[in-house]
Amino acid sequence: KGKRAFIAGIADDNGYGWAIAKSLAAAGAEILVGTWVPALNIFETSLRRGKFDESRVLPDGSLMEIAKVYALDAVYDSPEDVPEDVKTNKRYAGASNWTVQEVAATVKQDYGTIDILVHSLANGPEVTKPLLETSRKGYLAALSASSYSYVSLLKHFIPIMNPGGSSISLTYIASEKIIPGYGGGMSSAKAALESDTRVLSFEAGRQHKIRVNTISAGPLRSRAAKAIGFIDTMIDYSLANSPLQKELLADEVGNAAAFLASPLASAITGTVIYVDNGLHAMGVGV
Ligand code: NAD
Repeated sequence: KGKRAFIAGIADDNGYGWAIAKSLAAAGAEILVGTWVPALNIFETSLRRGKFDESRVLPDGSLMEIAKVYALDAVYDSPEDVPEDVKTNKRYAGASNWTVQEVAATVKQDYGTIDILVHSLANGPEVTKPLLETSRKGYLAALSASSYSYVSLLKHFIPIMNPGGSSISLTYIASEKIIPGYGGGMSSAKAALESDTRVLSFEAGRQHKIRVNTISAGPLRSRAAKAIGFIDTMIDYSLANSPLQKELLADEVGNAAAFLASPLASAITGTVIYVDNGLHAMGVGV
């Protein structure tokens, strides 16, 4: 029987979420997508107009089908949490049922169950500021959007995940080593995400037989990464210093995610898997 995946955090065809969707689709999974509310219109319009058709091509020549796109803002768990200024914001006006709890309920209504949950989203409003210059508000916003959003997604989706299912998030080496420029509490948010991966693997494993892993990915020129501002430097650094001196393709992260979601990884849970051409293993630049 084919598996069904919900991938949170796709708004174009450049990021890791898109590549993961493709690898899962190539392996036969049905694809559901959660797209950030303010980015929903442009994503759906581009999809409908064929703007992504070239990037939808799978290895067998067919096009990836997205069964349904759900509006999502993973910073809010239920309607009571949404402040008035967001409710009335015109970027949110056209969409409905986009809090985490409502999205899970709608997916349940539409499809009953899922097998694979992917969290491929992050946001840190003060990411360009050093930690010492980060405000409390900015720090907590980074944790809310990038770490708790995962706890919340898993919490609300677990009841509709089939036993044996798999959950995956995306992290970055800045959680454990100093990466100047990855500020605003984003390094802290990734450290929390990795620690939570271990604790959640225990809770979700014991209670629901769900595996929980995170992929520590190397640098990719995604929309989010371009907003940080140092992505080209990081890509050059990686190319110069990694054990494997090649460009890191989003598809390589997608394929690792498909492996982690598959029965081939049936004993792997609670882990950080590095998909970074080996850069994490280096001690000094060369
Ligand atoms: P991306 O821009 O493709 O993905 C980030 C997505 O998060 C966007 O679609 C954005 O709309 C969405 N988003 C932001 N706030 C949201 C919210 N409140 N609710 C729902 N969606 C929200 O960029 P990406 O680089 O592919 O990022 C995906 C994941 O990969 C992130 O966790 C990121 O930290 C991680 N990662 C990226 C790199 C890199 O170099 N690009 C490296 C390691 C890890």
